[in-house]
Amino acid sequence: MENLYSLTAHELKEKIDKDGLSPSDILNSLFKRIGSIDKKIKAFVSLNKGASALPENKAGKLYGIPVLVKDNICVRGEETTCASKILEGFKPPYDATVIKRLKAEGALLIGKANMDEFAFGSSCETSCYGPTRNPWDTERIPGGSSGGSAAAVASDQTILALGSDTGGSIRQPASLCGVVGLKPTYGRVSRYGLIAFASSLDQIGPITKDVTDAALVMNVIAGHDEMDSTCVDMPVPDYTKSLTKDVKGLRVGVPKEYFIEGIDKEVEASVRGAINILRDLGAEIVEITLPHTQYAVSTYYIVAPAEASSNLARFDGVQYGFRAPDAKDLVDMYIKTRSKGFGNEAKRRILLGTYCLSTGYYDAYYLKAQKVRTKIKEDFDNAFKLCDLIATPTAPTPAFRIKEKTYDPLSMYLSDIFTISANLAGLPAISIPCGFSKDSLPIGLHILAKPFGEETLFRAAYAFEQNTDHHKRKPKL
Ligand code: GLN
Repeated sequence: MENLYSLTAHELKEKIDKDGLSPSDILNSLFKRIGSIDKKIKAFVSLNKGASALPENKAGKLYGIPVLVKDNICVRGEETTCASKILEGFKPPYDATVIKRLKAEGALLIGKANMDEFAFGSSCETSCYGPTRNPWDTERIPGGSSGGSAAAVASDQTILALGSDTGGSIRQPASLCGVVGLKPTYGRVSRYGLIAFASSLDQIGPITKDVTDAALVMNVIAGHDEMDSTCVDMPVPDYTKSLTKDVKGLRVGVPKEYFIEGIDKEVEASVRGAINILRDLGAEIVEITLPHTQYAVSTYYIVAPAEASSNLARFDGVQYGFRAPDAKDLVDMYIKTRSKGFGNEAKRRILLGTYCLSTGYYDAYYLKAQKVRTKIKEDFDNAFKLCDLIATPTAPTPAFRIKEKTYDPLSMYLSDIFTISANLAGLPAISIPCGFSKDSLPIGLHILAKPFGEETLFRAAYAFEQNTDHHKRKPKL
């Protein structure tokens, strides 16, 4: 019998619907796989061995399909730590809206995925549990911050996964692990129950083995939610209807600022090759310009830490998780809890953010960054007058080695150079596999669309995928 763990959600769904495959067989196959593989990968921070399908959910859109959830998304009664000591033992009393929707459609939540602490990072190395490893080369990082989700999908330890993306945290690990990752338009998916990093940038999205599965997940998690005031009240289309293989007449913009010096040669060659494939399939390629691109990283690293520093103020030992013992008084308790509970990168972000928001610096940094953010958004508005989609690399290099950038935060921050503009501008963007380096490391193609243009993204991504076979290659483990 073929290994159930290696199939996609849509393949399993067909077997459940047509051949009467039982969800417990899928779970058994997966749990066995996890038992033998995760020692090497360390994608899971907790496993829900009790997951089982409710028979009355049979009509659910994801009935019997296992999903791994990033550890910053609240699941009622399941420890949710953001891979931080400060949330040790925290069990949310409620489900995030995306979790409620997955459960209602019969999905099986099999556990929580490792991540960078509070989603601060691009390598999964800031996790209090230690790094996840890249299934294509276990000496390398899986990307971050949703590194556990992407590595688990790539190593067939889950069928579907959820990640969150504030500056690239779904797309960059998807790219580095050779899987599909979608960051929806800001406001398309409810953030209720996602432990906030930077509230004006955060979105939850799917990490999957192929484009069809990403569309299936979006059909379940997208849509209005009155618990999140930034979640837009707009009808949700059936995204699977966009999977047509047809890109004729689509105008794909290629920004000249994105093929810069310093970008890895093999990445550049694969992405240019991918753009040529889209052209051969009937898309029209146009050169565009996004002149404020060079300011995106600095803008992001003011806006994101500023919001993070205020979001993280609530973790003080009083209401959630860890509290340092032996405090003399309340202030001492705050100091000891936060000093021991947060890791170095979290402390760095709190310091940077607090500084940017403090009197005298607010105008010089935070307000200025907000103005540049508007400029970056205007660049995209102008570009989308000339094209329907924009194609770029997802990351400037394939997966780097563990510890390679740990002591150089700036070089770590630069690994987000191609992804963060989509968050600053609120745009939807997807990463799909488009090639491999000579060392067999995956390379991702990044496609961006207009706000709420997920259907166009799916159309192009699916057409590309169905005319290539990068998504079928699996790491040897
Ligand atoms: N790597 C970026 C950061 O460290 C983005 C993280 C994310 O999207 N959560 O901020």
